[in-house]
Order: sequence, then structure tokens, then C-alpha cells
Amino acid sequence: MLVVRRMWIALVALVLGAGLLASPAVAGDPPISLPSSPTGLKAPVDLPDEVDPASPYLPQTSCSPLDMPGALMLRDLVLETYGEGRSGAISRGCTEGVSEHSDGRAWDWIVDVDDKQEKAAAADFISWVTRNDGRNARRLGIMYVIYNKKIWAVYNTKAGWRPSYGHTDHVHVSLSWNGARGNVSFWTGEVSRTDYGPCVRFSGTYAARTGSPRTGDCPAVAPLVARTSMGDRQYGRTGGTVEKAQGLLKVARTGRFDAATWTAVRRYQRAHDIPYTGVLDQPTWASLSPGSLTYRAVKGYTKAEAIAYGIEHYSGSAITRGRVAKAVVFLQTALGLPVADRNGFYDSVTLAAVKQVQEDAGMSRDGVVRGAEWQAMADALD
Ligand SMILES: [Zn+2]
Repeated sequence: MLVVRRMWIALVALVLGAGLLASPAVAGDPPISLPSSPTGLKAPVDLPDEVDPASPYLPQTSCSPLDMPGALMLRDLVLETYGEGRSGAISRGCTEGVSEHSDGRAWDWIVDVDDKQEKAAAADFISWVTRNDGRNARRLGIMYVIYNKKIWAVYNTKAGWRPSYGHTDHVHVSLSWNGARGNVSFWTGEVSRTDYGPCVRFSGTYAARTGSPRTGDCPAVAPLVARTSMGDRQYGRTGGTVEKAQGLLKVARTGRFDAATWTAVRRYQRAHDIPYTGVLDQPTWASLSPGSLTYRAVKGYTKAEAIAYGIEHYSGSAITRGRVAKAVVFLQTALGLPVADRNGFYDSVTLAAVKQVQEDAGMSRDGVVRGAEWQAMADALD
């Protein structure tokens, strides 16, 4: 008994002593030891005194096979600067949860912790990125970095390096939208407002990509106005359902959701006023394959009935371009648009039809649907 207690005392003393002498690893410590004066990357422009705002966490919302320009520039500069490791993926198939690879704004640098030179290069890079409260991460629009089972995030620098998983053979770098577009001071010499990225328009679908940054709030997410028996098919997927879509889209029936299919889906979505997500989502299937419909917001309504419903329910409101809602399906039905175009999204196809109604009624062609437009549709019935 006494022996056991003595052993315990000795053990406690050993642990405490080791703690005092060598300061053991604590939460927040880096995943590997980092140099205190790293070489880092050299910016191609003169840097302003002002530093870009730290990006908030902006998780992936879209599905795109395109590598974003900022990710490509970072990849090239890192490989050129260090000459170590090799490049892994930027964009990937959109089958995974939260990596930003599906947005084309994350990059994997293949550098192994078990390779001395590669590890030293990774250490220099992540030391340079994370030092001074992430000053260089902010300049490059880096959101977070993962290496050797640890994650560091520019939106949570106080926590330092937190536990993560894997990534012993590569550094994962996720970029903000500004970083991904190359719209940050490291590349341009100017600080830009935060770009919060594209918006999801129908719930449960991917976001439609736009070329312009978003600095305000997203419009409210609308519930689906149509549902079908078809599930999502996106870039990278294979199988008979993809082949069926390729037949409907009139592209080569390879059975693989390839780049040509992605382009064809977006072209179809644009032509039919569907948010152009590049994904065969519910709004797209509802348009492409009406036979697969299991629910539509205004199923069974005739044109006259939809107009009557609109006069009763929407006369007091204004329906404008860009709107996504059940009201838009009533509008599209009232306008007599083809079934494939009754998708609840007000863009160019619907706009052209609304302007025609306004022109025929001698009204100003502003594309906004109010009580007068519903009445004009009723008057035009016979
Ligand atoms: Zn990655």
C-alpha cells in the first residue's frame, strides 16, 4: 500500500516537473513546430497599410466544377515559392459536406508531415499565414487552414489551433469569396468589402452563382413550389438518371455528369428562368421532366383561375424581378407560360411576358406586377 502511494507521489512529481520544465502541449498549440521568422509569400503588388477584414465563416453553398482564380493564384505562388509537395484538388464533385471545394475556393497542398522538407515548407507557410493574428491570412482571404489534425481559423484566432482530423499528408486551405475571386489586397493592393457569396433561392437547393459580389443580406429562401420523384444529380455523379437527363438536355449520353452536362444544365436553367445552380435539382427536374412531378404549388389551375387567384391575393403587393415564391407560380400560370417555365422564379422569361401584358394594356413596361397588371390579364382574357 505504502509502495503504491509512493509511486503515485513520484508520478505526480514527475508530471508537474515536466510541466514546469518543458511546458507540455496545450490547446491552441500548432500542429507542428513553426519557425518564428518565416519567409512566406511575396505579394505581386505594393501592399496598402490597411488590412482586409477577417473573413467570417462562409460555408459552401454552390456546386461548381470551376477552380476560382484566387485559389489558382495561391496554388501557383505556393508551389513556385517553396518548390515542395504537389497540388491536390481545388474543385471536386459536390457530394461532400463542408470543405468549400464544391465552390472551387479550397485548395489542397500535398505536403506530408513525415517528409522533412515538405513539413518544413508547410511550417513556413502556415507560420507566415497565421502570425500577427492572421494578418497575412486576411490579406489573402484565407478563412481557415487544416494540417496534421488541427485547424486554425481567421474568424477565431483567439482559440489558436483547435483539434481537427486527418490532413497529415496535405494542408487544406479554404478561401473567403473575396480570396477566391482574387479580390484581396495581397493580389490587388486594395481592400474590398466582404463578399458573402451566392444565395440559396429555393430551400434545399444549391446557390446560383453570380459574377458579382454580395455585400448585403440574401433574400428570404422560398420553399419549393414543385417537387418531383427525381433526386439531385450534380457534377461528378454517374448513373442512369444522369443519362436520362443528358437525353433530355440533348448532350452526349455518357452517364457521367461531366463539364458538358454542367454547361448544358446551366444553359437550360437560364433559358427557363430557373436559378442557374448547375445542379439537376428539384426546380430543374420539374421543368425538364414534368412527368416526374409529384407536387406543384398551383397544380390544376387554369389560366383564368390563376388570374382570379392573383387578383384576390396579390393585388395589394408588388411582384418584382428576382423574386422566388409561390406567387410567381400563380403569375406564370396566369401569363400562360409553358408548364416547363412555371417554376416560381421571376427572371427573364417571366419578365418578357409581363412586359408584353403591360405593352398590350398601354401601361409602362417596368416589369413590376401589381393590381393593375392582374386586372390587365383578366381584361385580356376575352
Ligand atoms: Zn481540402
